[in-house]
Amino acid sequence: MKRRGRQFFMPEGYCVKCKAKKEIVDGVEETMKNGRKAIKGKCPTCGTVMFKILGGKAAAAPAAPATPAAAPQTAKPPSTT
Ligand SMILES: [Zn+2]
Repeated sequence: MKRRGRQFFMPEGYCVKCKAKKEIVDGVEETMKNGRKAIKGKCPTCGTVMFKILGGKAAAAPAAPATPAAAPQTAKPPSTT
C-alpha cells in the first residue's frame, strides 16, 4: 500500500506566462504515450499549467526473437548387411 500526502520533489519548469523558471506545484508524474515520463503541474505564481518532460533515454532495445536451435543432423544408422 502506498501512502499519499508526501511531496516527492519539486521539479522546475518554464512558465510561459511569467517567462521564467518556476517550481512546479501540484506536480504529478505522468507517462506519455511514447513511454516517457513528464511532470504536470502548475506555476506557483500565476497558476498556468506547466509541463515538464523528464529527461531520460528511451531504452528501446529490440528484443531479438529466440531462434530455435538447429536440430542436430542425425547420422543415418549403418545398414547391416
Ligand atoms: Zn507563471
